[in-house]
Amino acid sequence: MTVTGFVSHPLFLAHDTGAGHPERADRLRAIHERLDACGLGAQVMAHEPGRASIEAIRAVHDAAVVECVRRGAAAGSAVLDGGDTVVSADSYEAALRAVGGAIEAVDHVLDGAWDNAFVACRPPGHHAEAGASMGFCLFNNVAIAAQHAIERGARRVAIIDWDVHHGNGTQHIFEARGDVFYASLHQWPWYPGTGAATERGRGAGEGATLNLPMAAGDGDAAYMDAFEATLLPALDAFAPDLVVVSAGFDAHVRDPLSSTRVTAEAFARMTTLLLAHAGGRLVSLLEGGYDLEGLADSAAAHVAALVA
Ligand SMILES: [Zn+2]
Repeated sequence: MTVTGFVSHPLFLAHDTGAGHPERADRLRAIHERLDACGLGAQVMAHEPGRASIEAIRAVHDAAVVECVRRGAAAGSAVLDGGDTVVSADSYEAALRAVGGAIEAVDHVLDGAWDNAFVACRPPGHHAEAGASMGFCLFNNVAIAAQHAIERGARRVAIIDWDVHHGNGTQHIFEARGDVFYASLHQWPWYPGTGAATERGRGAGEGATLNLPMAAGDGDAAYMDAFEATLLPALDAFAPDLVVVSAGFDAHVRDPLSSTRVTAEAFARMTTLLLAHAGGRLVSLLEGGYDLEGLADSAAAHVAALVA
């Protein structure tokens, strides 16, 4: 029987981005309510993470990034990256536990206690660069998770990012390395502007970055074609010890921040295929997804595929 960890923490709801911000606590409430309503909440191992160590965050971020978030929270609020990336009084503690959840999920899966895991965290992470928080993201949870797996002895880690926005931070952190494969499906051209198909990695990381730009209007058929014809063969060739997913659900047809037309069924199918190609060892972290109905549908389909 498959054991799926479900990692969440009350502080994830306390990260307060202010009225009208799309990246809001109601997103997590919608996911929790849907999982409980459809019985999935009883099929996962619920887990509340502790705080990550500063050293774990410093493995991918400059000290100034940690200090900026810590000081902003201590001051009660701060606005980073020109306005859309908000720090509230509880954001530092929430962000430490988002990273803690990512790391503890990796530990549980690598130790064999869980087969796979979904970390329903806020704030999200994949836009955060080594030197700066940006794009609603404070610390790069998925990059820290992958780095932690490498430091624990995984030889190769693959990051699959199906958030509708390109994970610029994650790509830049690993693009010169051959031990972390980064593959992204994203609307392009779109925020944040990176992620052209020609970006393939550099130096020792040449070929370990795979960008699959999708067009406005693309839906399940186009996504599954790119996923099955290009992404999965590249993943098989890389042969990772662990797969970490940047699971944003903002490519959903209902999402207000994209023009793609993906449905929950495609997120479930991508999940099932990844599990089959990852030997079942997979850690998934929530990124975007801003329509509460589309997000709840998609996250539930994703978790249903994880527990199957
Ligand atoms: Zn996104």
